[in-house]
Amino acid sequence: MTGIEKLREIHDELRVKNVTLVAVSKTKTAAEIRVLYDEGQRIFGENKVQELLSKKDLLPGDIQWHLIGHLQSNKIKQITPFISMIQSIDSEKLLIDINSHAKKNNRVIDCLLQIHIAQEETKFGFSYGEAENLFVKGVTGPLKNVSVKGFMGMATNTTDSSQVRKEFTLLYDFYKKIKKQFSQTQFDTLSTGMSSDYKIAIECGSTMVRIGTLLFGERKAAQ
Ligand SMILES: *Cc1c(COP(=O)(O)O)cnc(C)c1O
Repeated sequence: MTGIEKLREIHDELRVKNVTLVAVSKTKTAAEIRVLYDEGQRIFGENKVQELLSKKDLLPGDIQWHLIGHLQSNKIKQITPFISMIQSIDSEKLLIDINSHAKKNNRVIDCLLQIHIAQEETKFGFSYGEAENLFVKGVTGPLKNVSVKGFMGMATNTTDSSQVRKEFTLLYDFYKKIKKQFSQTQFDTLSTGMSSDYKIAIECGSTMVRIGTLLFGERKAAQ
């Protein structure tokens, strides 16, 4: 199946479930992205600022770019004028820094807090306790130039689907709890699910999936 056929199939599948597709285009060329754009896809996700900037200017201006990889504070200002959503907020400081750059640009930037839900060790993402503490402390309230819309999580890379299901369900329960307990009325996004596990994610409350390999083919191992 070609990328276009796969895109059509996934669009049809997600439409009935009201789930948003982020086409993850990291390591892929502007020409490859253009093919899916011409098929109607508008939201693309990249994990590196430099790579995103190099492709952005080669492509139509109505693409909504999502940053899905770790963001260093010194690169924030390069993306604040245009970024549609930053899904990889992994520290309180980053959120505060994005807020101040967004203010200078007269923008309100949609953000997701990245929660570490997998068993693998990684430097990035909040624990549930850390994330909850941000709301207990009321950190997001005064930050008028960021809108925290929900959470992003990546499940353990395993063929054990019950493990993946367990992790997505825990995050969904946390999302609902925070939305209710702290009256986060703007909360409408739970970004879970990639090529290998998006069907499970949707069964477990996902509202946004991030799919690369299924649409663009395998990435080269070194990247
Ligand atoms: C690369 C990446 C994806 C997409 O992964 P695929 O397995 O290619 O679908 C999704 N989310 C994040 C954060 C990524 O870095």
